[in-house]
Amino acid sequence: MNKSKKIIIAGGGGYIGSHAVARLKEFGWQPVIVDNFSRGNHDIAERLGVEIFAGELSDETFLDQIFSKEQYCAVMHFAASSYVGESVTDPARYYRNNVGSTLALLSAMLRHNVDKLIFSSTCATYGIPKILPIDETTPQSPVSPYGWSKLMIEQILRDYASAYNLHFVAFRYFNAAGALPEQKIGERHSPETHLIPLAIASAYNGLELKVFGRDYPTDDGTCIRDYAHVIDIADAHRVGLEYLLSGGKSDFFNIGTGKGHSVQQVIDTVEQLSGRKVNFVNASRREGDPAELVADAGKINSVLGWKPQYHKIEDIIQSAIDWHLADGFCN
Ligand code: UDP
Repeated sequence: MNKSKKIIIAGGGGYIGSHAVARLKEFGWQPVIVDNFSRGNHDIAERLGVEIFAGELSDETFLDQIFSKEQYCAVMHFAASSYVGESVTDPARYYRNNVGSTLALLSAMLRHNVDKLIFSSTCATYGIPKILPIDETTPQSPVSPYGWSKLMIEQILRDYASAYNLHFVAFRYFNAAGALPEQKIGERHSPETHLIPLAIASAYNGLELKVFGRDYPTDDGTCIRDYAHVIDIADAHRVGLEYLLSGGKSDFFNIGTGKGHSVQQVIDTVEQLSGRKVNFVNASRREGDPAELVADAGKINSVLGWKPQYHKIEDIIQSAIDWHLADGFCN
């Protein structure tokens, strides 16, 4: 039996990946980061105090060097291009970076007899759901190349599981939010497109925040999303890892809180916590945005025993405010 505690974290320099590294370390695992740092943050990765391999997942020699060094018990694969809008204008990037790199990583795993994978999928694979909340049996019909790239990988994982005995857990993320300011890690995207960081920046530096659509069929007319604390999401990965290592069968799980908040509610919360005004204007809808995305998180709770520790959007947003102020995003 493989007793190694070493895990490869592909994309460990990114937002969710870096928090997973922190969480795994806390629980005695030995993560190593593999990242090309095209969008991940090297300085944040360095703060995690783990070994870092900088390079491309598509580079077979690079991967062979890493996999030859140690016996790894598993791989967590967070590395991906993940801007929905960009995927529409530059789908080649998404199929190459997401599908292509995953195939290269899977090949390296097979060559080196690492047969357990935790994969980052997305609720974008569901497209525009007809029924809410969304459970794992909801039909998947993406509306962007980003969503398609992740759905294609889900199918690849199924096929590799039956043909090559790969064992996987694929998590379909809803919205990740918050940070671990006390450990100096948090969300830093360039460009930043996400609601919570932009609303916080607007409160502190006055930059205009566009509310993408006020004519949705929701109570206040703005979109509703399910925001989970990134450290809860990170912890789901730890639990998924332990499940796979103890013989759990390959499966797909939503990660969400089961509770939705509208864009306006997020703005109101940022204003209330910061004591400042968010400089928002109403703008037209953003293409591909469903009115409401809220997870049914019953399966991850019943099979993996995972449930979020952060229940209040206020606590999640406060951690994001503390992080962004310390990281200088609001200057
Ligand atoms: N949103 C917005 N203005 C922005 C960024 C986002 O109104 O500048 C809205 C967006 O339309 C969505 C919600 O905020 O309904 C969350 O968007 P985000 O980009 O943070 O995450 P996504 O749900 O796209 O993964």
